Amino acid sequence: MTSTRIAVIGAGPGGLTCARVLRRHGIDVTVYDADDSATARDQGGTLDMHPDTGQYALRAAELWDEFAALARPEGEQMRLVDRAGRVVFDSAPPQDGEGNPEIDRGQLRTILLDSLAAPVRWGHKLERAEPLGDGRHRLHFTHGGTTEADLVIGADGAWSRVRRLLSDAVPGYTGVTFVETGLDDADTRHPELAGLTGDGTMMALDDNHGFVAQRNSGGHIRVYVGMRVPEDWYGRAALDPADTAAVRTALLERFADWGETLRGYITDTDTGYVNRPLYALPVPHTWEHTPGVTLLGDAAHLMSPFSGMGANLAMRDGADLAQALIDHHGSDRHDRDRHGIDEAITAYEKILLPRSVEAAQGAAEGIASAFAPDSAAQSLAHMAAHH
Ligand SMILES: Cc1cc2nc3c(=O)[nH]c(=O)nc-3n(C[C@H](O)[C@H](O)[C@H](O)COP(=O)(O)OP(=O)(O)OC[C@H]3O[C@@H](n4cnc5c(N)ncnc54)[C@H](O)[C@@H]3O)c2cc1C
Repeated sequence: MTSTRIAVIGAGPGGLTCARVLRRHGIDVTVYDADDSATARDQGGTLDMHPDTGQYALRAAELWDEFAALARPEGEQMRLVDRAGRVVFDSAPPQDGEGNPEIDRGQLRTILLDSLAAPVRWGHKLERAEPLGDGRHRLHFTHGGTTEADLVIGADGAWSRVRRLLSDAVPGYTGVTFVETGLDDADTRHPELAGLTGDGTMMALDDNHGFVAQRNSGGHIRVYVGMRVPEDWYGRAALDPADTAAVRTALLERFADWGETLRGYITDTDTGYVNRPLYALPVPHTWEHTPGVTLLGDAAHLMSPFSGMGANLAMRDGADLAQALIDHHGSDRHDRDRHGIDEAITAYEKILLPRSVEAAQGAAEGIASAFAPDSAAQSLAHMAAHH
C-alpha cells in the first residue's frame, strides 16, 4: 500500500503531457501504465500537430525544440487518388513553416517520456478505482498492488477503467475497420508505391472502401486498408489472423476492381496485417462533475481517426488540466489542497466537454462520408474546400 497525491493512469500522449507540465511546476504526480515497458507495443503511425492543440501543448510542456528537431513539415502533403490510381488532388505543404508538421507517434512519446524526471510505473494495469469518500480513491491494480490518490486522472485510452467512475458509456463500433499493413524502406524497395504516396498522406476512398497510406520517418509507409464491414468480418470470413496469405486473398477480393498499383498496398506488405476495428464513444459524452476524478484524451472522447485530432486533443487536455491544477494549487494544508483540486477539475471540465463534443461530431461526420457509396466525390469536395 502506497499513497500519492495525483495519479495519472495511462502513459499515452495525453497523460504524459499532463504529468510533464505538472512536474515542471513542482507538482508531484505518479504515472501508471498497463504496458510492461515503453517499448512493449508498436506506438503507431504519424501524427500532425495542430497549432491550437498539439503544438500548444508542446510549448506548454517546454518541449518545442525537441519536437521541431524531429518534425516533418513535408509530411503535411495530402494527396487524393481515384480508385484507378490516378492522382486527382495534390496539396503541397505550406512553405512558410506554418501549418501542422508531422511526427511519428513513437518519437513523440519518447520525447514526453524522456522529459519526465520520475519514471512511469510500468506493469501497473488499473483494475478498478474504489471511491473512499471526500474525493479520495483507492486504486487496485491487476497484479494485486493498491495505492490511494487525492486525484485520479483517467488518461487510460479507449477502454478506460477510470471512466467507469463517471459514466456508463462504452465505445461503439463505427462500422469501419482498418487493416493495418506497411512498407519498409519504401523508396528503394517499393518505388512505385512510394511515388504514389508522396511525402505525406495518400487517400483513395470510394464505395465504402479505401486506402490511406502515410509516410513515417525512416522510409517506412504505414498503410490502412479501410472497409465498411461488420465488426466480426474476420470471423464471418472464417479468417485466421495469423494466416497472412488468406487475409491477403480476402482483401484482394474486396478491392478486385481497383487499380493494380493501389492493390500493391495489399500485396507488397513487409509487416503482415493487423485488424483494427474503429470505435468511438457516443456523442455527446459528458458526465456529472465528481470530486477527485476526471478524464482526458480518448478516455473522455474516443473518436474516429477522421478527426485527425485524437492525440492533439489528448495533449491539449493534458496541458489544460495541468494548468488548472497549477492555477488552483492551494497551500500544503490537506483540506485546502483538496478544495483546490476540486475547483481545478471543475474549471477544466468546463473547457474540455464542449470542445470534445464539437470535435467528436466532426469525426463522426468525417468517417461517415469517407466510407459511403459516394465517398470518392465527397472526399474530392472536402479536399477542394479545405486544402
Ligand atoms: C489508425 C489511427 C490513426 C490515428 N491518427 C491520428 C492523427 O493523425 N492525429 C491525431 O491527433 N490522432 C490520431 N489518432 C488518435 C490517437 O492515436 C489517439 O487519440 C491518442 O493516442 C489518444 O491519446 P491518449 O493519451 O488519450 O490515449 P492512448 O494513446 O490510448 O494511451 C492510453 C495509455 O493508457 C494505458 N492503459 C490503458 N488501460 C490501462 C489501464 N487499465 N491501466 C493502466 N494503463 C492503461 C495504455 O497502455 C496507453 O499507454 C489515430 C488513431 C488511430 C486508431
